[in-house]
Amino acid sequence: MFNKKLTENLEKSSMIRAMFEEGARLKKIYGEDNVYDFSLGNPEVEPPAEVLETLKKYVNSDEPGLHKYMNNAGYPEVRAKVAAYLQKKCGIALDESNIVMVCGAAAGLNVTLKALLNPGEEVIVLAPFFVEYGTYIEQAGGKPVIVNTIKDSFQIDVEAVEKAITDMTKAIIINSPNNPTGTIYSKESLEKLNKALEKKEAELGINIFIISDEPYVSLVYDGAEVPNILSIFKKSISINSFSKSLALPGERIGYIATSSRIPGVDELFSVMVTLNRTLGFVNAPSLFQKVIADNLDVAVDIDNYKMKRDMLYNHLTKVGFKCVKPQGAFYLFVKAPIEDDVAFCKAAAKYNLLLVPGTGFCGPGYVRIAYCVDKGMIERSLDAFTKLAIEFGLN
Ligand code: PLP
Repeated sequence: MFNKKLTENLEKSSMIRAMFEEGARLKKIYGEDNVYDFSLGNPEVEPPAEVLETLKKYVNSDEPGLHKYMNNAGYPEVRAKVAAYLQKKCGIALDESNIVMVCGAAAGLNVTLKALLNPGEEVIVLAPFFVEYGTYIEQAGGKPVIVNTIKDSFQIDVEAVEKAITDMTKAIIINSPNNPTGTIYSKESLEKLNKALEKKEAELGINIFIISDEPYVSLVYDGAEVPNILSIFKKSISINSFSKSLALPGERIGYIATSSRIPGVDELFSVMVTLNRTLGFVNAPSLFQKVIADNLDVAVDIDNYKMKRDMLYNHLTKVGFKCVKPQGAFYLFVKAPIEDDVAFCKAAAKYNLLLVPGTGFCGPGYVRIAYCVDKGMIERSLDAFTKLAIEFGLN
């Protein structure tokens, strides 16, 4: 009766939702403090004080026209500031005509995919990945092609990507630091991928775009660096948001940056601007465009996330779990001690631990733990993880 494909997709996205519902049930029985909910990537921290101050400034401003429609790409002066900020980072000439302000990374991805794809064209996604990509690609008329990353390190398997490329390949989505693994793709692997793409493009006479989904790009630890995608790949599009870096997920603010090295980039920009309107976003929220433009260098307290990562990572590995230490984002992707990650999550729920099966991210055999939660909850959860490890003979 309803959209068939989307009804089917509900099944796939049901794992996080199922955990969420299980959490609500357990909280009713055991009380909020005794359920350890690691299921959602919804930051517990508040936005930085300077961001809230800037917001107050604009809310109290009597600047005329502040709440009106604007160019569908966003305020030109905001886009110019974003372009200048990015140009410093990537070393590629950018100006306001390379920037479209959007309603978060999710909107940026939808606009970009729809702007690039003709019916049936393929988009390679690197598993494990943020589960919505599949739906976004299909909504844009494309076909997702899943390529696994290298076992356990979760780095790009360039040979496997190369094998997956066909004459219908249009783009590859890269998400680094990655949700769900926290991995930062190495510069070496990205440069190798760039060479492989150039070779394939020449061989097949096609254009392959890199769509870089970067909401976690400023959440990195231990001095790790995230290689700049715009400077490595000629045909690249960087999509960013302030949902995680400024803890503003409910405000729906982000941008698309198209590389000036894309042939015909002006036309791409015009298509994206039209799509921002016709997909129904119209324009990014006006107040928050202004707010982020004044705070491009600001981020939430990274040390706070690092402390939480270390607390959980150290405890989990001490009691016997296996996990790659994440270099960024706020997720741990832990190897399930049994093959069936869904069954393992059910076992964890007996100790009031809510984890998400890796299967939901096309990463079976693992579970995702989102540590963007209250420190007290992490402390209270540690005993439950020890009990879980004992049940599975790890400790
Ligand atoms: N991409 C990834 C990898 C994410 O993890 C998320 C949200 O969790 C998004 C995109 C969507 O972000 P936004 O809230 O900016 O739309």
